[in-house]
Amino acid sequence: MPKAQPLAVPAISRKVLATATGVTGLLLLLAYLVAFDQGAVSQSGMLLHELMHDGRHLLGVPCH
Ligand SMILES: [Zn+2]
Repeated sequence: MPKAQPLAVPAISRKVLATATGVTGLLLLLAYLVAFDQGAVSQSGMLLHELMHDGRHLLGVPCH
């Protein structure tokens, strides 16, 4: 009797899924630090805010 084949095959491997999840998390953290952080997470006071200031205005993020 032939061995049964699985009906559903994962579209991506666990390794690709883990990598994509990690990269997405890092990009979300970067987006937060660039767009919304006021020193609470970065612990740099307003340094990061000032460095990203033009980018914030370019992206239309509320700033001041
Ligand atoms: Zn501004």
